[in-house]
Amino acid sequence: MTEQLKSQFTQRIIELQNRISSIHKDFAGGRDADWAEQAGERENDEVLNALESEAKIEIQHLSNAITRMENGNYGICQACGDEIGQQRLQVQPAAEKCIQCAE
Ligand SMILES: [Zn+2]
Repeated sequence: MTEQLKSQFTQRIIELQNRISSIHKDFAGGRDADWAEQAGERENDEVLNALESEAKIEIQHLSNAITRMENGNYGICQACGDEIGQQRLQVQPAAEKCIQCAE
């Protein structure tokens, strides 16, 4: 069960890393002079930046969750030490805290 989840997480991390590298490609390309809208371009950069930091945060959460699986404390709230409910883990498999502590 945990192994399956772990490979799901690993899979997701790879997906996110691919996304980040295609964001970097977007940054590198699309800089031709025809694209005159400077403002629009900057806005686009902001969107890409936001997407990249979101992806990085998710990677961080997922790799933390994998570490917790390896240490045998996956599903344990990192704040109060209680078990994180199954339902919560289904919705948010990388959750670090129980519902009470997350709020
Ligand atoms: Zn808690």
